[in-house]
Amino acid sequence: MKKHQMLIAGKWVDPAGGEWFESLNPFTGAAWALVPRGGKEDVDLAVAAAKAAYEGPWRKLTASARGDLLRKFAELVAAEADKLAEIETTDNGKLIAEMRGQLKYVPQWFHYFGGLADKVEGRVIPIDKPGVFNFTREEPLGVVVAITPWNSPLLLATWKLAPALAAGNTVVWKPSEFSSVSAFAFAQLFERAGFPPGVVNVITGYGNEVGEPLITHRDVAKVAFTGGDRTGEHVYQLAAKGIKRITLELGGKSANIVFDDADIDEAVKGVVSGIFAATGQTCIAGSRALIHRSIHDKFVEKLLALAKTARMGNPLDANTQVGPITTQPQYQKVLDYIRIANEEGAVCRLGGGPASRPECGSGWFIEPTIFTGVKPQMRIAQEEVFGPVLSIIPFDDEEEAIRVANGTVYGLAAGVWTTSIRRALMMAERLEAGTVWVNTYRAVSYMSPFGGYKRSGIGRESGIDAIREYLQTKSVWIDIAGSAPNPFVMR
Ligand code: NDP
Repeated sequence: MKKHQMLIAGKWVDPAGGEWFESLNPFTGAAWALVPRGGKEDVDLAVAAAKAAYEGPWRKLTASARGDLLRKFAELVAAEADKLAEIETTDNGKLIAEMRGQLKYVPQWFHYFGGLADKVEGRVIPIDKPGVFNFTREEPLGVVVAITPWNSPLLLATWKLAPALAAGNTVVWKPSEFSSVSAFAFAQLFERAGFPPGVVNVITGYGNEVGEPLITHRDVAKVAFTGGDRTGEHVYQLAAKGIKRITLELGGKSANIVFDDADIDEAVKGVVSGIFAATGQTCIAGSRALIHRSIHDKFVEKLLALAKTARMGNPLDANTQVGPITTQPQYQKVLDYIRIANEEGAVCRLGGGPASRPECGSGWFIEPTIFTGVKPQMRIAQEEVFGPVLSIIPFDDEEEAIRVANGTVYGLAAGVWTTSIRRALMMAERLEAGTVWVNTYRAVSYMSPFGGYKRSGIGRESGIDAIREYLQTKSVWIDIAGSAPNPFVMR
């Protein structure tokens, strides 16, 4: 079993406390790597390294030179994509087909933000005061902490690292304790691309032991976090103590809404993709299907027929469609929600428990599960499950669909299936969600802003909006009149 080290100041180092913990393979349940258990001492070293790099070599590079490094890194990731995908799949159980696709797409973020690095411009303000020249500078923040969850470790880190580095910040990245292993291989590529030591540091360990000292460290300027909303709330409170900038990408309970004028077969595929792809372990999971009552029964029959064909098994097999749950606690949580849904009176039409198919080995598998008869106020329709569990809720008209779709504390994404352009545009306007897909689902791009409304988060990742999250504006005033005005009044 490989015993990994952390990357601090360009050196691979053991944790100060001399402890490691096991990372488990979700398909076998067996340990396959040893991850350093970092602590406060390591945090102090990592932040000091990031600060020194920010004030030293990184600051001295032009924005174009930073862009060159990001593009070089992108090429290295593209060359290593298959290897990185295999590590992620072994570590977090996501399908190899999905991880390969993700890792081949990840370089685009570094190309895009590498290109954007030297297009960040200030403004000259046609100021209303005589004898003064006023302009703005867009400046980096300093040391940025990136904290990422276990479900898409490298993609979600990329969403933070690419804009943060393009804007001129340095980074300390803490991956999830459940899926840290790909971070080590990824970080080596920053070294190979020629980033100065300390620009990117990777520190692993438990959320409370590493995450908290990182967030509260006085030399950290910003925290970019993806994870659950309860942890996000705690992170927000910790960051507030230091008046730190924050980006929060949190959970969701996204509605996938199918109207009676939709192409039903396409909508069925869209609903399946929304909840069973990635075993439902995505923030954008379309975990509530809102189906117009007039097509409800026909839709459910077609949905059951398609969901039943899902091939479960080894996530490293390219033919597998539904893999294991990534962590043992998450496996238990999904089973708890299935029990709660049954107790609440929802009707289980498919699955409803652990998968005991031979091809599932000893992994943490749960059968694709579909509940009908779900009422909007049930816990199964309000709380994020983060697993392959779909709640189906019938509706009668547009107003009811909007009320139910918006009737949770979350607002990450929504899907609308309709052939009416009026309905598509009206729903896109009225849904309280950071992303609305019409006649498609689960599409993301480096060019398009992503983030949550309401309890699903603060700030945006990807697209031009994202680089703004890592910049601050300075206003510079220069006297060009040459004579001092009255010093006792404001100029
Ligand atoms: P968690 O909120 O449990 O953890 C997220 C990260 O925060 C992990 O690195 C975790 O470390 C760390 N952490 C935990 N406790 C603390 C703490 N006290 N202080 C600082 N950091 C801490 O989320 P999961 O890893 O369970 O991921 C699943 C969640 O992520 C889901 O709710 C999902 O919706 C959300 N998510 C949101 C996305 C979005 O873009 N909106 C995308 C993907 C997922 P450790 O693992 O070591 O505890």
